[in-house]
Amino acid sequence: MKIISVVGARPNFIKIAPLHKAFQGYNDKVEHTICHTGQHFDEKMSKVFFDELEMPRPDFYLGVGGGTHASQTARIMMAFEEVVEQEKPELVIVPGDVNSTIACSLVASKLGIRVAHVEAGLRSFDREMPEEINRVLTDVISDFLFVTEKSGMENLKAEGIDSSKVFFTGNVMIDSLVHYMPKIDASSSVADFGLEPGNFVLATFHRPSNVDDGGSLKRLLEMLGTVAGSGGKRILFPVHPRTRNNILKFGLDGIVPGNVIMADPLGYIEFLSLVKRAALVVTDSGGIQEETTFLGVPCITVRNNTERPVTVEVGTNYLAGTDLDRVASLALEVMGGGAKKGSVPELWDGKAAERIVKVLLENS
Ligand code: UDP
Repeated sequence: MKIISVVGARPNFIKIAPLHKAFQGYNDKVEHTICHTGQHFDEKMSKVFFDELEMPRPDFYLGVGGGTHASQTARIMMAFEEVVEQEKPELVIVPGDVNSTIACSLVASKLGIRVAHVEAGLRSFDREMPEEINRVLTDVISDFLFVTEKSGMENLKAEGIDSSKVFFTGNVMIDSLVHYMPKIDASSSVADFGLEPGNFVLATFHRPSNVDDGGSLKRLLEMLGTVAGSGGKRILFPVHPRTRNNILKFGLDGIVPGNVIMADPLGYIEFLSLVKRAALVVTDSGGIQEETTFLGVPCITVRNNTERPVTVEVGTNYLAGTDLDRVASLALEVMGGGAKKGSVPELWDGKAAERIVKVLLENS
């Protein structure tokens, strides 16, 4: 069976790495190749993940880069169609919710090639998020839908997706975390940044709703200063390229509070080692809500909704909304020892990729 897995952006690399490892155990049955669309292309957002997650160089590199949603999606589709026409795979695997996910699933499904969506069924119910549109559309045209949490099963049922295509297999992002835990534990990144375990806050922001408007971004940076000041903790802020560009564009680099340490985006091992030892994580990321829940680290999500409700219901995540006074007071409460105790959601056990590969082989 010839399979092409698509990766485009940072979280995709982390989700496909465990699948690539799992397929290696079935080399006699499966030829697994990787197509990198080039949505994220620089050293810090892409190459470092291939190296750290021990993935081979991509077999196909489409080099599409950035652009508007329409132009990026269209360019991925045109380039991926050529790969599919030439390679004639039996299956295309698409992870997550980025433009590469919808672009490549659409190309494959129109060429009559089966599509497997890894991380299907997640819903924020907010169509203003580009990712939500990508999720909904990809699920409609997928032949295999692999779901990470029970809410995803319910969402797909409510949308009328045939249950024979839907499989509750767990979370491949947690597979990577479990696999690399020894290296994460051994990393010296906390000391490298001059921080003490349990005595700093880690922050990441990149959602357009938080960082594309100058006023919102300014208030976000000020809020980090308030949290650091009143909580007596330093904040490490590895800055996503989109956020960095906007800080410069809006002339906000001068207002970053002194107790907030800005850094470049970090490698996977280094970043997770900081997450694991942080007093608190403040973020608008999707994946980081899951990683903090698995690690039992308090997380405040600065968004009005989450497509990953299990992290709030079962895990350590708080959905704080975008009222930054509320975020700051919640942060102080959590750092003052008032954090809820979470537990690890069902099937987040490091074996999701193995389950996915078994389903694919049994149904090929
Ligand atoms: N991540 C990383 N370095 C960083 C920030 C995040 O390795 O500086 C990892 C993080 O641990 C998670 C993934 O990148 O595995 C999440 O990506 P991101 O927040 O960009 O995307 P989202 O999950 O919101 O789609």
